[in-house]
This record gives sequence, structure tokens and C-alpha cells, in this order.
Amino acid sequence: MSKTAISWQVVAQEGKARVGLLQTRRSLIETPVFMPVGTAGTVKGTRFEALESPELDARIILGNTYHLWLRPGADVIRACGGLHRFIGWERALLTDSGGFQVWSLGALRKLREEGVEFRSHVDGSARFLSPEVSMEVQAALGSEIAMAFDECAPGKATHEVARASMELTARWAARSRARFDELQREGADMGRTPEQHTSVNGEQALFGIVQGAAHADLRLESLARTVEIGFDGYAIGGLSVGEEKSVMYDTIELVAPQMPQGRPRYLMGVGTPEDLLAAVARGVDMFDCVLPTRDGRNGRAYTSLGPINIKNARHTTDTRPLDEDCACSVCRRHARAYLRHLYNAGEMLASILLTHHNLAFFLDTMRRVRQAIRSGNFARFQREFVERYNSGVG
Ligand SMILES: [Zn+2]
Repeated sequence: MSKTAISWQVVAQEGKARVGLLQTRRSLIETPVFMPVGTAGTVKGTRFEALESPELDARIILGNTYHLWLRPGADVIRACGGLHRFIGWERALLTDSGGFQVWSLGALRKLREEGVEFRSHVDGSARFLSPEVSMEVQAALGSEIAMAFDECAPGKATHEVARASMELTARWAARSRARFDELQREGADMGRTPEQHTSVNGEQALFGIVQGAAHADLRLESLARTVEIGFDGYAIGGLSVGEEKSVMYDTIELVAPQMPQGRPRYLMGVGTPEDLLAAVARGVDMFDCVLPTRDGRNGRAYTSLGPINIKNARHTTDTRPLDEDCACSVCRRHARAYLRHLYNAGEMLASILLTHHNLAFFLDTMRRVRQAIRSGNFARFQREFVERYNSGVG
């Protein structure tokens, strides 16, 4: 068999839920996997040593094309040898395409067939992002997995709006693929490694993105057109953008099982621990979300008994850890009362400790998910997890 950019193998399955081994040119990643978000070249509030420690053991993190392109700029990162060298991280990276961030700008952007015009939030300068530019920036970053440049429709978009957006995404996917392949041939990929694994060739991988908002026919058409172009993996985009939760679950249930069996499936930007388990049960393998880091900075902790708000007065003299079932270093050492004090005093350590615990909770939950699937207990694990999580006694 010829070598590919990534290799992917299912090693255990229960219903639609699967455990897989994803070999990238830098890390071997067990899936289902949660990928912490490193927007501006940093997983906010966390040192890389902590991400690499056995306690978290994050094998892959996200980098954000839009933010890194605007600051410090693709040229700076290219001159520093690519994103791995620039930030000091030797494990795998996935970069998004910037499509979602420019979509989030709303009225501030101008959408054309060619790409998107907008003003930089950093310095107000006029910028233009297109499939070609996104591929060029992602080659300079040198991530293990790059994403096609897509257009996201609002969760409640009409059929007409969602169709136009989905068709634009399909045309942009073909342009992304073409420019990506050129850049690989030209050697522009800064993350290229010597072929050190038996199954992968050291090149960057490219994932396609399925859009179509809440419309089943458009989702399936988007999937077919994306698969026809051909990618190393496939993502479901445009969820958790204002639609009802039931619509999100229905869309995943419809799309995920129809995605190519032999490729990893990535649900972008979702979600809560319950959402992750629901998506795993529907056949999704990869996740990213800002919740553990962003919420940690805002005083919210995820626990096996549900989320808690450390600002709440009930924690003033609470000597319990955030989660009695969590083995992370924060829960072993510190009480809720102390974390609340740090938060109220505006101490940066509050954000650091809450972020660490939240990442530990998300990553450990995924470890337990993999274990449960391997032993054929995932359905029971999910039921018990959700019941405890919603018990409201945390
Ligand atoms: Zn903990």
C-alpha cells in the first residue's frame, strides 16, 4: 500500500462508536480524541509541559489560521521554521481554515465568489482571505492536518441561503484541494518530516468540511460532493451556531454514519461533555472546543457531577476539591474555597488552575470513553455519565 499523509485504523467498535489509531507524521493519536484549542499559538492559561504531561497527555492541539495570519503573520512563522518550532511543540497540530472566524465577523465581512474581504481586528487593515490564501497560510504553519476553506451558514438559515452557502463551500473545497496539492509539490509545507513511520509519508493532510445547516438534503449533498473531491478525513462544520440542540444531534446522526468508514470524522467546535459522548455514539472521532479553556478563565469548572461556578457563594468555605472523582493535580492539592478566593481576587492563578482541571476532565473523559468502547461498555458508560452529570449535586 502506498504511504499517505495520515493513516487511520479502527481498532474497536461498539455500535457506531469506534476507537481508532490515527498516525500523523508527528503523533500517534487514539480516537475519539479531544483537541485543546490553541487559538493564537497558545492553549490559553496552560504551559506546553502540562499539555505533554501524563496527566493531560494531549497528543494534538489546534492552531488558528485567522488569528496567526493576522498576528504575528504567516511570514514571521515561516521565517521561524513553521508553527511547531515557533511555539515549541513537537506533537501534532491541526489548523482550521479561518472560514469560521471570518464568518463570525458577520456584517463586517464582504463575501464574494473569490473569497472574503474584511478588516483586521488587530490593526483595522483591509484583508482578503480565500481558499488559496488559507492553504498558503496553513502550509506556512505546517500543521499535520489542514482544513479546507469553507463558508458557514447560520444554524437557522433558510434552505435557499443554506444551499447557496453549501455550494460555495463545495467550490471552495475544490479550490482548497488544488492549491493544497500544488503547495505540497512545491515544498511549501513547513511541517514536513522525513518519513519516519512505516505508514505515513511526512506530508500534511487535508480534511474536507460538510456544511448545509439544518437541512438534511443539503447535508447529504455536501457530503457527497466533498467525498467526490477526496480528502484525508472529513469534518462536520456549521453546528453549534444557533440551531436547537436536537437539530445538532439529528444532523450528526444523519451525516456521521454516512461519512467514509475508513477516514477519521471530525465534529468542529463542539461541545459540552454530554455533546461529545452523544457524537461519539453517532460515530464521530475527533473534537475541539474552547469550552474547557474559555470557561475555566470565567470561573466555570466541569465536573463529573455537572458544571459548577466557582464564583458562587456556596463555595466560600467549601474544602472539597472541584471534583472528588478527578485525579488531576489541581483537585489533589486545592479546595474550592481557595480557587474561589483566587478568582475573586483577580489572581491569574485562578484561570490557570481552572483551565488545567477542565482540560484534565475533558481529556480524561475521552480516555474513559475509549476504554468503555474497547470493553464493550460504552452504552452503559454514556448512560451513567449523563445521569451523574445532570444530577445537580456538584
Ligand atoms: Zn481536577
